[in-house]
Amino acid sequence: MKVLVVNCGSSSLKYQVLEMDDSSLLAKGLVERIGIEGSVLNHEKTGHDKYVLETPMQNHKEAIGHVLDALQSPLHGVLKSMNEIGAVGHRVVHAGEKYAGSVLITEDVIKALEECIDLAPLHNPPNILGIKACQELMPNTPMVGVFDTAFHQTMEPELYMYAIPYEMYSKYRVRKYGFHGTSHKYVSQRAAALLDKPLEKLNIITCHLGNGASCAAVKGGKCIDTSMGFTPLDGLIMGTRSGTVDPAIITFIAQKEGITEEQVTSVMLNKKSGILGVSGVSSDFRDVEKEAEAGNERCQLALDMFARRVKSYIGSYMAQLNGADAIVFTAGVGENDIGMREQICEGLDKLGIEIDREKNNVRGKETIISKSDSKVKILLIPTNEELMIAQDTVAIVGNGK
Ligand code: ADP
Repeated sequence: MKVLVVNCGSSSLKYQVLEMDDSSLLAKGLVERIGIEGSVLNHEKTGHDKYVLETPMQNHKEAIGHVLDALQSPLHGVLKSMNEIGAVGHRVVHAGEKYAGSVLITEDVIKALEECIDLAPLHNPPNILGIKACQELMPNTPMVGVFDTAFHQTMEPELYMYAIPYEMYSKYRVRKYGFHGTSHKYVSQRAAALLDKPLEKLNIITCHLGNGASCAAVKGGKCIDTSMGFTPLDGLIMGTRSGTVDPAIITFIAQKEGITEEQVTSVMLNKKSGILGVSGVSSDFRDVEKEAEAGNERCQLALDMFARRVKSYIGSYMAQLNGADAIVFTAGVGENDIGMREQICEGLDKLGIEIDREKNNVRGKETIISKSDSKVKILLIPTNEELMIAQDTVAIVGNGK
């Protein structure tokens, strides 16, 4: 079965077409600047040159229309007709407490996602737009929703509740949700395959370290704790996000700087903090590492803070899991940053975590990077959220087409 995977942002749309008989990628692409001047589609048939289409695209429906044309084009396409698409898998950020797994999209599902808009005001509206546009253009093709929050729904209340008045939960659903669930799920499944052990028998700590970053404690394939919280601002230090801070800082800074608390949270803590905020140089680890090597102390401090925060979560999750069988590194930094992986794992030998410097000298490849006698295995696993979405989609609609 061929599956179209769609990930809609407010002005962008990422897509892939996968042949699920052998999990191969047939084509992928990105539409940018939807609804604004300079709309552009970048389409790539696997193994061929990029095809670029610059044409006005007023909305997501028009954008998807152009994507479908490109997919059927005799020159750049991979489909003879749209009927070859057996199902569409949609990435959706927030499903609140409603769904603990992927689901076939119905009117009720769309309603439930609309009810979650106040929990993810930037992400859910474009995700829903993308679903509706695909439904209009492909009325006979089943659509599946795959949610960033779903994998974390197995957390217990004692780990997802905040110690604030209970009514804040019952009235407004303020609790920890967690994000990057599709990635944590994918890499924990791959970890079990790489270790050749049943996932049900493994305790795994997954570290998704990209521009956005989160850790998860996965027991027998189920998430028991994760570092992002009510929003993706919580937990680890990120490219531009602070991660966890003392909440009293927000009021203090607002008063001192004469700005609103909303400005502190949505601008300062989300966009000007993290690696960028501490280093004053960049949110990109490569830039910050280059400067640190040249002697920039703030850059070194930012990297040291990042590593320590990941270490703290590893320690916390070792306790929550009563020991781990494996630690997984994934996403941009986790897959590529050899020095950062080494720094995070340094000095954890008494916990049975021992990285092998030579094996760790690798990028973007599924492999074991711990010493052969390390009690806790350390794995590098490139994430593949699109493949996970496509796999869930096939599992839900069946493989009849
Ligand atoms: P996103 O959260 O946007 O999906 P990614 O997972 O793509 O982020 O990660 C992007 C980040 O990965 C970049 O900002 C960069 O800091 C980091 N990165 C990518 N390649 C390297 C590398 N070779 N060394 C260090 N950091 C890298």
